[in-house]
Amino acid sequence: MARVSHVLLRGARPVPIGSDEPTAYDGPVDVLVQDGTVTQVGPGLERPANVEEIDAEGRWLVPGLWDQHVHLTQWVETRQRLDLSGATSVEEAVASVAGRVAAEPGRPVIGWGHRSAFMGRDGTTAELDAVSTEVPILLVSGDAHHGWANTLAYNLLGLPVRDDVVRENEWFDAYPRIGVLTGGSTDTPEAYRDALAAAAALGVVGIVDFEFNGRLQPWVDRWHDGGDLLRVRWATYAAGLDEVLESGLRTGDPLIDRQSPGADDRLTMGPLKIISDGSLNTRTAWCCDLYADGDVLEHPAGLPNQSGAELRSLLGRAAQGGLEVATHAIGDAAVTEALSAYAETWAKGSIEHAQLVQRDDVRRIAELGLRASVQPAHLLDDRDLTDLIWPGRSDRCFAFRWMLDDGVRLVLGSDAPVSPLDPWLSMAAAVHRSGDDRAPWHPEQALTPAEALAASVDEQPTVGVGSRGDLVLLDQDPLVDRGSTRETAAALRGMPVALTVVAGRVVHRAAG
Ligand SMILES: [Zn+2]
Repeated sequence: MARVSHVLLRGARPVPIGSDEPTAYDGPVDVLVQDGTVTQVGPGLERPANVEEIDAEGRWLVPGLWDQHVHLTQWVETRQRLDLSGATSVEEAVASVAGRVAAEPGRPVIGWGHRSAFMGRDGTTAELDAVSTEVPILLVSGDAHHGWANTLAYNLLGLPVRDDVVRENEWFDAYPRIGVLTGGSTDTPEAYRDALAAAAALGVVGIVDFEFNGRLQPWVDRWHDGGDLLRVRWATYAAGLDEVLESGLRTGDPLIDRQSPGADDRLTMGPLKIISDGSLNTRTAWCCDLYADGDVLEHPAGLPNQSGAELRSLLGRAAQGGLEVATHAIGDAAVTEALSAYAETWAKGSIEHAQLVQRDDVRRIAELGLRASVQPAHLLDDRDLTDLIWPGRSDRCFAFRWMLDDGVRLVLGSDAPVSPLDPWLSMAAAVHRSGDDRAPWHPEQALTPAEALAASVDEQPTVGVGSRGDLVLLDQDPLVDRGSTRETAAALRGMPVALTVVAGRVVHRAAG
């Protein structure tokens, strides 16, 4: 299939991204994409030969949506894993695993989604050994920061057997070896295509892939195996930094045939990803204040994953090599430290998560020209736990309003599989800040639909001449005022996407 192409949309209504003026709707226009780029916008365009024409029938047109934080391999696998996100106790999680083993004897169990803080404690190796010593069992926590396994799985992963879970760096190192438990059977080109097609059906045209694997070759293979549906920015981790720097790849460079003039600009080098602290759920996010249950924690305020010198060395080397840096910082101490490191090294890029922030640090994010890459859907899961273990700090969590007010470049993502790869869920959570019947959590930090949409289109303006040929047609106006944030969020979550185009190529078309 052609990688970039031509298409003519007839009669679409461009949504005025970044404008609060609904009057910017001037009636339907035609949009011509040639060689992957928008070349004409206006009424009554002539159709060049060999260009497919699609009648938009007055639908709403937005630039393609992006998910700026995805772990794609994990997402592909999660779609096939035992879902433990609803488990409220260790016993309940163990019972689900036992049920799966009984239903599918002999098959390895990879589970996902349990949250130790909600279960009251971490599970033990013995509890999973009691379910089976014949098949490997590995349960990945909902925040992806620890794994809980039986003895066989620890052995197969090459990890020392322990009484409880494996956390943080030891876990991240082991994670890429999960395939040894399943024989790699979940990691097929078809499974990737399915996951990407499902994203395209939601209007997604691009992702930033932060998969822990850290190797480029799988993406190149996948791309040639039909995985070239969306735009992908591939991130490296510290372990792969030397190789990337030696190859001369800079952020934005095409990864395949990059020396040739017509190189495919859809698969490109992304940033260096650094995980500078832990997470809320695992209580390893590095905070200025103690966790409420700090007295029972090994690190009562969480901890950084590297020394300050190590962090600065990574940022400095990346910046010198032309790589942006995406620094995971969830606790407020981690954010403060990361910002100092960016300032001292002149590195560019993003703070990922910035879940808990000091007020002044929001201004520093803006001053440094960094993006805040945030995951609004996490607040739906994390609000209760935050009130419990970060008491008195919830007004500084998911502080999107402060970020926009201070001029921070805000971009949204899912951190799939931590929350589903669904930009409409992210937008709805940013607008309404509640996923159930309860009132919004800190509504003073909410975004308007226009702001949430603007944060979901990779900083692209309203579709115009020179825009990327990444177009999405919606059956409804995403910015219409529906009276309450609850109603607005419900409409966003159910937004019907009629057509998704990446670089002029149709990658999703709704049936009917
Ligand atoms: Zn992540």
